[in-house]
Amino acid sequence: MIAIFYLVLQILKLYSYVVIANVIVSWLIAFNVLNTQNRFVYAILELSYKLTEPFLNKIRRFLPNLGSLDISPIILLLLIWFIEMCMKLYVRNKEKSANEVGLKSEVIKYPDTVEEKTVLEKIQELNSDETVSGILVQLPLPKHIDKQKVIEAIDPSKDVDGFHPMNVGNLSSGYESSVPCTPLGCYLLIKKIEPNLSGKKAVVVGRSNLNGKPMTQLLLKENCTVTITHSKTKDLKAECLEADIIVAAVGIPELVRGDWVKKDAIVIDVGINKTDNGIVGDVHFDEVSKNAKALTPVPGGVGPMTIACLLKNTIDCFKRSQI
Ligand code: NAP
Repeated sequence: MIAIFYLVLQILKLYSYVVIANVIVSWLIAFNVLNTQNRFVYAILELSYKLTEPFLNKIRRFLPNLGSLDISPIILLLLIWFIEMCMKLYVRNKEKSANEVGLKSEVIKYPDTVEEKTVLEKIQELNSDETVSGILVQLPLPKHIDKQKVIEAIDPSKDVDGFHPMNVGNLSSGYESSVPCTPLGCYLLIKKIEPNLSGKKAVVVGRSNLNGKPMTQLLLKENCTVTITHSKTKDLKAECLEADIIVAAVGIPELVRGDWVKKDAIVIDVGINKTDNGIVGDVHFDEVSKNAKALTPVPGGVGPMTIACLLKNTIDCFKRSQI
């Protein structure tokens, strides 16, 4: 009886989600946020979905196997300093996604005034806690905290973000490592569109440790000829015009324009920029979509892949800890 009641409840819950999703999509279309005519929006949304779904399914299948181990499955710990509202939402999405696939996640919040010592001690405690498989410190940190000290304090085998110098070194040497989630998501999208990247010319715009540099390593591993550009690059437009693949991770709204992109290039937009017209990427979507073979929308392109890759990295850390 209880089982039937539970089942009916679940069906009703599922139905209500479908109804809510429909209403939201209708509103987005009505207000021209989603354009049903735009094949790029749908191609990439579909691709993001196809790519993230198998991960989630794999994780769902993997979790029951943990039942035989007498430990709480995986705790994905997110240490957070909430600086901006959109960051809050981003972190909430990470936590929600982890919970949705059955990963136990815990968010540890500190005020902006937290002492560096407190954070480092917490990381040490989590490092030695065998029930914790992955640790993520949400950046940016308040100014008085040394980011590098915090990153280096994390046990490299629990570093789900792949920022620890040991993981950075392993990635650039071509060894197994945790790979930062955003570039890993971009890489998987590119590989899905173009499985053989050998000999392709790629231009990475931005050289941050978070995005540009690991992205370059991933593309090099695939035998691309990679040009990494930055704020001192002389003629960025000319560099981009040569590229079969462009990854823009700059933080300047709509920097990459339509006439910067050659026909049938693959363009990945990592940027998330708040403007008076809402959130936009580093690529001018309407202009570039006329030339590109594939272009990720903002929001909805790279973002969901980043979260899926965070879950993948957490599972990988857990698996490595079991060997
Ligand atoms: P970052 O650390 O601020 O680095 C920006 C890079 O862009 C730097 O290397 C900078 O060059 C370069 N740059 C600045 N102006 C330039 C110009 N005019 N031409 C060429 N290069 C220029 O940024 P980030 O952390 O990589 O983030 C980049 C964007 O991605 C931001 O909008 C961020 O919000 C977004 N993001 C998205 C996700 C996601 O999941 N989708 C995740 C992380 C970040 P220099 O080195 O010479 O200063």
